[in-house]
Amino acid sequence: MFKKILIANRGEIALRVIRTAREMGVKTVVVYSQPDEGSLPVLLADESVCVGPAASNASYLNIPNILSAALMTGAEAIHPGYGFMAENPDFAEMCGEHGIVFIGPTPESMRALGSKAGGREIAANSGVPTVPGTGVLESVDEALLSAKQIGYPVLLKASAGGGGRGQKVVRTQEELRSAFGQAQEEARLYFGDPAIIMEKFLEEFRHVEVQVMGDGQGHVIHIGERDCSIQRRNQKLIEEAPSTLPDTLRQEILAAGVRLAKFVNYAGAGTLEFIVDRDGNYYFMEMNTRIQVEHCVSEEISGLDFVKLQLEIAAGEGLRLLQEDIVLRGHAIECRINAEDPNKDFRPAAGKIDNVHFAGGPGVRVDSHAYTGYVIPPHYDSLIGKLIVHGDDRDHAIRRMKRALDETVVQGPKTTIPLYIKIMENPFYRRGAVMTNFLKTRMEM
Ligand code: ADP
Ligand code: ADP
Ligand code: MG
Repeated sequence: MFKKILIANRGEIALRVIRTAREMGVKTVVVYSQPDEGSLPVLLADESVCVGPAASNASYLNIPNILSAALMTGAEAIHPGYGFMAENPDFAEMCGEHGIVFIGPTPESMRALGSKAGGREIAANSGVPTVPGTGVLESVDEALLSAKQIGYPVLLKASAGGGGRGQKVVRTQEELRSAFGQAQEEARLYFGDPAIIMEKFLEEFRHVEVQVMGDGQGHVIHIGERDCSIQRRNQKLIEEAPSTLPDTLRQEILAAGVRLAKFVNYAGAGTLEFIVDRDGNYYFMEMNTRIQVEHCVSEEISGLDFVKLQLEIAAGEGLRLLQEDIVLRGHAIECRINAEDPNKDFRPAAGKIDNVHFAGGPGVRVDSHAYTGYVIPPHYDSLIGKLIVHGDDRDHAIRRMKRALDETVVQGPKTTIPLYIKIMENPFYRRGAVMTNFLKTRMEM
């Protein structure tokens, strides 16, 4: 096992990695930007290195500074968390060139799967259905022709997009004419790659995703699936495991996920995202080649530590688990606590946390870097913690989540907690009638 690793991330995920590393006796180095100097990961890591000012480009995305920090502190491996460098194959490659292990899949499989176009191609090659759509579109004329075949409305997606950004719904030919160039330009600006793909825009469906682990030698297992249909602006708010899908459909989707990951000889933790419609059709959407924000719900029902598995695979110890070793128990739900005002269109609410008290008791887990007196910097995303509960079944988990939300106090910035309390009481939510348009159609938001 590694003696020391560097964590190229911030916030709750940096803390999450520190916790497992510490339990494993692995020393940690965390990098940070100037405004994050007083953050919990920096206080708890064995060592910390400032890699630049507030702007992500100058700090958390600053490759020379991050690699220097690893070399200077003698870290053998880098855990990228999610976001930032996590899905950057060039960074993974550079780690290798400097004799540092990138904790994640190979640069080759990241390149193959990292873009939405690449993911769709691999899905097609491994016999996994995708949403009707295209590869990378080269021109407006090609886009117009494809839209005619697919049928409006269509969705333009930045092939390199992520975090719910880089998507444009287009309802008519005229709209497409002006939107296409604009989408390319925005994709270039935000993701450094102008490539655009098109998909049929679907109005109502569930987002269901498969958690996989691979050893890079052809052995791939799944650790169940998650439902992440409660979203705003294409970003997840509440996730649960398992999904409420009928068992035959669930098994089919799990098998499709494993097949796809096997196709690229996947190494490490990964997630295959699917759309599941009312009629039980499922379509592969994309693969996230990293640990995911909502990995905790799968950890709770499997009793496994995914960061530990990631470290073991990266250190060359392989993946000793077989599919039949995976036993899933009960039901878990996660609420992402964002410093945002749900009544003002989820406007970010950075600032000082005057007082914070998290829930506890049976079946409650809190992954959060927030503490009383912590000042949430305005430069990064608004996630200040995750409240996770584990219960005997879905109904038990919902009641437990409601109880845990009621116990939690965050004074200072507005948060999404009051919204989650309402959702836990919502009759549609309680009976599992949840699709991605839930907030609009069932909560009038
Ligand atoms: P998850 O599926 O793990 O919930 P999200 O899609 O919500 O992941 O993204 C997690 C974090 O990573 C967010 O901070 C998001 O903004 C960021 N992120 C994900 N993909 C990209 C990308 N391609 N470019 C920039 N940021 C990204
Ligand atoms: P990201 O990389 O930003 O996570 P995804 O392709 O995973 O992008 O899509 C994020 C979310 O956008 C999905 O969970 C879903 O709510 C919505 N979405 C994606 N594809 C479609 C589609 N074809 N039609 C309608 N909504 C979609
Ligand atoms: Mg996604």
